[in-house]
Amino acid sequence: MRAEIISVGTELLLGQIVDTNAAYLARELANLGIDVFFKQTVGDNTQRVQDAVRLALGRSEAILMTGGLGPTEDDLTVEAVAAAVGDELVHDADVAAHVRRFFESRGRVPPASVYKQALVPRQARVIPNHRGTAPGIHLERDGRMIFIMPGVPFEMDGMMREYVIPYLRTRSGSAVIGSVVLRVTGEGESAVEARIKDLIRGTTPTIAPYAKLGEVHLRITAKGAPGEVKDQLARGEALVRERLGELVYGTDEQTLEDVVGGALAAHRLTLAVSESCTGGLLAQRLTNVPGSSTYFLEGVVVYSNRAKIERLGVDPRLIEAHGAVSAEVAESMAAGIRARAEADLGVSITGIAGPAGGTPEKPVGLVFIGLAHPGGVLHRRLTFGAEPGRAGIRHLAAQAALNLLRLHLLRG
Ligand code: ATP
Ligand code: MG
Repeated sequence: MRAEIISVGTELLLGQIVDTNAAYLARELANLGIDVFFKQTVGDNTQRVQDAVRLALGRSEAILMTGGLGPTEDDLTVEAVAAAVGDELVHDADVAAHVRRFFESRGRVPPASVYKQALVPRQARVIPNHRGTAPGIHLERDGRMIFIMPGVPFEMDGMMREYVIPYLRTRSGSAVIGSVVLRVTGEGESAVEARIKDLIRGTTPTIAPYAKLGEVHLRITAKGAPGEVKDQLARGEALVRERLGELVYGTDEQTLEDVVGGALAAHRLTLAVSESCTGGLLAQRLTNVPGSSTYFLEGVVVYSNRAKIERLGVDPRLIEAHGAVSAEVAESMAAGIRARAEADLGVSITGIAGPAGGTPEKPVGLVFIGLAHPGGVLHRRLTFGAEPGRAGIRHLAAQAALNLLRLHLLRG
């Protein structure tokens, strides 16, 4: 089945509100296995709404509309749809009674204008609105379905759940669309794509990469009968994991800090961090995870050389000899915070976030990560370049520190 979404409202065309309804409807339709080939946005204008509906009737079996159902002059969706399908508006006593009760139950007298909402197309079925006054409208025309819902997202959502989704399910057969997202970090988008290029070209299941800052999300999507979809997704996931191995850190909504936190908790290890250029970003991400108090002991921001020396016991001669942004200082910071906090693991970040402060030997984007563990201390040297900008470099540095921890915990 092909569906089309029509969002009505001049504010949408002016960019004053974002069309979250269309995004919501598109997701729900995808979950039902219904293809959406077109979306239209049209202003509060009877003729143009009529044109949009006629266009949709020519190419889509299900048309889902939101907006313009209210009592005011610019609410003209129902009238325009009735005109487009050659129907007329008639007074619906049940809707009028619902509107009256809705107001009276809130101790208010309905203004005369709201009864405009009781005018519905003669051939329409009314979709009850349990969250507001404007009724939804369901029309069938030559095998086409039209659903008109309020623009208010909360009211629209209620009608979708209670009426439209169950109805569409009875009409769309049993096909569903399912998807799983594999989250990848530690390599850039093009390197990740190169490893799975041939899989991306395949059709079933489809694999689509989305590049984010410091990670790539691979969405695997399959369509078919419910059982088939599950198998296809499992097959797709196994193929990708085989190629990418440890680069895959999580699935769906899982964040890198969730995964690291889970591993720390599972290994019963505690962690403390010391940060320079990230200014607490790593501690913030680690403590975003509910329950992080079981493994996260403390985080310090040691921005100045003096703080590194006094708080963590970094040897001033190390800073003099190698600079604050160096492998030696990163390792010393990691060992320092581990000792001071009496943690199993200590992690440190020191780098040049820019935009100023870079030199030819130590350019903007150079970052050292230290990791102190019961068996010793190690570091990683990373070069992000100046291009991600200050915020980007800070984010990438925290991401790299989390990933270093993840890999350390993974390998035991
Ligand atoms: P009302 O009875 O409140 O007038 P309505 O069905 O006439 O409802 P609109 O007047 O078009 O709907 O929109 C009401 C409010 O709902 C808007 O001000 C906006 O906040 C929200 N809204 C409308 N359309 C959308 C949309 N497509 N996406 C997100 N929000 C929307
Ligand atoms: Mg309105």
